[in-house]
Order: sequence, then C-alpha cells, then structure tokens
Amino acid sequence: MRKRRFFGGIATLAFSLAACGVATASPERDVTVPADPTMIDFVDPSKVGGLVTRTLTEGDSGDRQVHVSYPEFNAAPKLNEAVSKEAARRLHDFVRSTRTGGLEPRPELNMDWALDAATDDLIGVRLRTGEFLGSNWGNSTTTLWYDKQSDQAFTSPGLLDGDNGLHGVAELVRKQLVKRGPEVDQNEVTASENLFDSLAFNRAGDLVAEFDDCQVGPCSLGRVAVAVPARQVEPLLSPAGRRAQDLVRETDMVAPLVAPKMMMSRSPDAVSQNAGSVDCKVRKCVALTFDDGPGPYTARLLDLLQQADGRATFFTLGANASADPAILRRMSKEGHLVANHSWAHRDLAKLSSSKIADTLGRTQDTIAGAIGQTPTLVRPPYGAVNADVRTVARRLGVSLINWDVDTQDLRDRDPGLIAQRAVRGAHDGAIILLHDIERTTVDAVPDILNRLKGKGYALVTVPELYGSSGMRPGNVYASGTVSAP
Ligand code: ZN
Repeated sequence: MRKRRFFGGIATLAFSLAACGVATASPERDVTVPADPTMIDFVDPSKVGGLVTRTLTEGDSGDRQVHVSYPEFNAAPKLNEAVSKEAARRLHDFVRSTRTGGLEPRPELNMDWALDAATDDLIGVRLRTGEFLGSNWGNSTTTLWYDKQSDQAFTSPGLLDGDNGLHGVAELVRKQLVKRGPEVDQNEVTASENLFDSLAFNRAGDLVAEFDDCQVGPCSLGRVAVAVPARQVEPLLSPAGRRAQDLVRETDMVAPLVAPKMMMSRSPDAVSQNAGSVDCKVRKCVALTFDDGPGPYTARLLDLLQQADGRATFFTLGANASADPAILRRMSKEGHLVANHSWAHRDLAKLSSSKIADTLGRTQDTIAGAIGQTPTLVRPPYGAVNADVRTVARRLGVSLINWDVDTQDLRDRDPGLIAQRAVRGAHDGAIILLHDIERTTVDAVPDILNRLKGKGYALVTVPELYGSSGMRPGNVYASGTVSAP
C-alpha cells in the first residue's frame, strides 16, 4: 500500500516557477510525477507514531500576533532540540523587530510545519514561516533533517556532499533559473548554506530547493522553487541525502517511526454535533471554549471534563487535528463540539478571500474526515473578522464565534488566576476563551468546573446557548446575545 501523503502546504502558495513551465524534472522508475515537480509529497502525520504537536500562541489581545507550531518526536530528542531552537530563533528575531509596538495592522508571525519524510531511519521537518510586518506577508522555509543512524540533526545542506555538492547544486539551480527569464536574478544563487536551507525530494527523487520570498528576485514573484533532476543530483548527495532520495522514491514503503497510531476507520461512528440538550432558556448556561489544539494536554482535559460531566467546544487547528484525528473522535464521542480554528492560525483578515476559503475548507475536510461530520462553527484566529471573512463563512455555511470572557490564559500561566477570571467573568450566555495547548490552562479546569457548577451553571456547547433560535452562517457571535449580522 502506498504511504498516504499530503499535498498540502506549499501547493497552495501563490506562485511556483514550475507553474510557469520552467522547472523540469526527470520521471524515473514507475512513478507518477506531480504536475508541479517542485511540489513535495508530505507524509500524513497521523500515521507517524510518537509524534506530538507543540503550539505556542500569543496575541488574542496585545500588540503582536504570534503562532508557532512544530512537531516533537519521542524517538528523536536531538531533532526536537534543533527544531525548537529554530522556532525560538525566529520568534526572538520577530519580537526584536516589532519591539516598538502600536503598529496597525498588528505584526504577525506564523510558523507551521510538514513532514518531508518520517521513518525509522530519517525524518525531514519543513518549517514554513510567514511574517507580516505592515503591508505584506513574507514567507520563508527551512527544512531540518534527522538521521537515526548517526543520531544527528542537520540542516538541509547536510543532504549534499560537502562543498562540492553545494557548489554543484548551486550551478544546476542557476541553469534552471536562467529559463525563468529576467525577473529572477540567478547571480543571487551562490553556494551558500543559508540560501539552500530548505531542501527535500519530490516523489521522482528530484531535489527540490525552495527559496524564501524576495531571495532570488522581486518579492512579487512569491514562491520560487526549483526541482533538480534526480540523476543529475545523485552524485552530489551525501550518504544521508542518498538515503532520503531513495526513501521518497520507495512509494510502496510504509515505515512508521515507532508503532502506528490506531488506524482510523473509513467511516467514523455517527456522532452528535449538537451535543446535548440543555435548554438554556430555563437554565443558566456558559460555554467553555478551548482553542489551538489538540495538543499534549488535550487528553487530560477530556478526562477532567468527563469526570465533571461538563461539555465544551473545541476550536481545533487543521494542522494539529491532522496529526491526531483520534482525539477529535474522542471529543465528539464524549459529547463535545469539534469546530474549526483554521489550518495554521493566520489572521484571516490579512488574507485574500481565496486563502481564507482554503485554510477554512482544508480544516473542515480534516475534521469531517476524523469525526464524520462537517463543523458548523469557526473561531477566527485572534478574533479577527472582516467582510471577506464573513462572506467566505456564509458560503461555507459556518457561523463565526468570538468570546466575551477572556481568561488571558496564554499570557498569565497561572491556574489560580485563569480560574478566577473564568469564574468572575461568567454570566448566563457567556462564551469563555481558553486554550488546551497550555498545561496551566488544563490545571485550572477542575477549579473552573467546580465553581461554575457550584453557581448553578450548566456547561454547554456553543450552539446550545442559542437553542431553537439557531445560528446563522456568516454571523459573528460573541456571547449568548447575538451581535449585529
Ligand atoms: Zn487561537
């Protein structure tokens, strides 16, 4: 059976040289080459055992918006260290360059990830960073590799045979870029490790080099990537590079890292997406909402909710959900509502309509694939909504849900304080904002549940607050009181 793979991420980026008919690749062996040879065939993270997603968000309030997400592997501590260091470096640079504060629209940093490879032998993690510093998104990619044989993590040039390999690849890339025309400055392509920091292989074994925005030509070009044909690049690869190339060409191979996670059945059990039947016209109700997961603490949160017989709404990220669909199924089976928080947490108000539709649509599909039902609610990242977001939401048939009680749990990682804010802010119809990516938030939950129940509140999902009056697609809701459409 072929490894199930993802064609996500880079395929949705604006431009590629290949789309302009430039990059050529050599089809070898009996494989299908994607129409765009610079497209990387990502591994489905739900098939990789021993993987958890780390997520860091700030900016539901404050001067800047930050969302950083990356994978962690039980089997590869050295890779985890390299990946988290790279994330910390990006975050540090961003914070430094936005220190002045008060900028509008708010500066934003967004890092998400995909897996180029994940076997017992080799792992490749592609980190994509988007930065918004005033007017446009600038995107860059870095791919880190891990070789189990040597127990070493290394940057992309480690796939190449030293200086010789790097010079050879730079030369081949320059040749490809000449065909692109005068916009691309092939003189910018030097044998620099920084420039070649994102290398991977496509399914034909061609080496795909991705450049950051503005790196080898005007920023208006968007994504520039080149596929160097497999045969030409082979002599320029290091031993680890050769193994990585073989790996992606072995299309029949299934080699999970440790043990595969429980396989999803094709048709998940039918579950209720309305979850519950509390009549909030006759009882006092509050809706606890948990954003940005699932993550390492989500299972414990579900245990706590189950013990207290409380229900909640989970606004999950598509990227995190794709790595752990089983926990979405558990949420749904236990009476919680699973909803959409976009794929990778970019501020939707800074995206074009087509990108908004893409990030929400992919997440709808991922959640529906896990629980068998399509979500009806979206929480826009950072609560940011504009006319385009509403229009896309209406078209997708989803309501937009914000909040009216902010526990500031990402800023103040203090369970006592978080519980205090949730309980003090609670009122009939309240929508309370929490995040299941932080241990301290989950630590606050038993206290929140006890005290709210002590005050006579029923803990319900968001749609229950609205009861029979229902919710309309494209409308924004921030509490049991409906805001203007
Ligand atoms: Zn969020």
